[in-house]
Amino acid sequence: MTETDDLQAFLNDLDRQMHIKGDWGTPARYIPELADIDPAQFAISVALADGRVLSSGSAQKRFSIQSVSKVFTLAVALGRIGDQLWTRVGREPSGTSFDSIVLLEREQGRPRNPFINAGALVTTDAMLEGRMPQDALAELIQFLRAACEDDDIHIDKDVARSEAATAHRNTALVHYLLSHGNLHNAPELTLGTYVHQCAIAMTTQQLARAGRMLAGLPDAPRLISARRARRINALMMTCGHYDGSGDFAYRVGLPGKSGVGGGILIIAPGKASIAVWSPGLNHYGNSQVGTEAAQRLGQFTGWSVFG
Ligand code: GLU
Repeated sequence: MTETDDLQAFLNDLDRQMHIKGDWGTPARYIPELADIDPAQFAISVALADGRVLSSGSAQKRFSIQSVSKVFTLAVALGRIGDQLWTRVGREPSGTSFDSIVLLEREQGRPRNPFINAGALVTTDAMLEGRMPQDALAELIQFLRAACEDDDIHIDKDVARSEAATAHRNTALVHYLLSHGNLHNAPELTLGTYVHQCAIAMTTQQLARAGRMLAGLPDAPRLISARRARRINALMMTCGHYDGSGDFAYRVGLPGKSGVGGGILIIAPGKASIAVWSPGLNHYGNSQVGTEAAQRLGQFTGWSVFG
């Protein structure tokens, strides 16, 4: 048996184990279109350095990537304005929930990091600057299609509409940012762009392939420099799971970015890009079974960056 055969057998077993365990968590309730999704679903895909993508579970099923999109928006925004972004948003873990407004008041409208909602809204605002939302979104989608070498990536308009109709906290955040001079576009344009980026739908196979550039895999399209990839990975490790970031680092030992759609993108630098999906969330708002599966995969492969 080759190592790849072993890993495929492990992934098949992982799918079985997760269904047997049956402790799925609860889908995000505050976005109506996501609230009714059956939590008893699981998919995992692993893009390897030899170019293969191994999967198990519903790896062809599209899900709402939600905050996983923030990784790619960050890459596009840094590509447009470079380190200037860091004058508007920090690089420290927040220790607060994804949609918290608390630190924003204390720190005069400069969000702690680009992955909490306030920081992601600033990053989207930077990506948008000087153009129409549809042009910024077209660049983002193009970037994702190039990253995974697959043109079949789209925005789920129903999810976008559903989130827009109930985006009360994010509306508060954009206006708060505006009051501190940290929003350069009209609040409804930045929020509209953000809601649409979060509504991008992808399969775990596509997402794992999109993450290859962050893992520095040999077959990844060269869309960002190795230095930028390293830095984005550092932010994913320290901030990618909101106030659950420490717990994810402890359990999995790899940079990861979660979304309330139940997806997680996980990077094993030089080794693999992993996408896992299960729509039930834990109390931090991160995929319950996705985190468990990532922990088991980390133990099986020994890929933790901590040795
Ligand atoms: N669109 C979601 C929101 O802003 C993203 C949150 C997440 O995925 O963690 O509430």
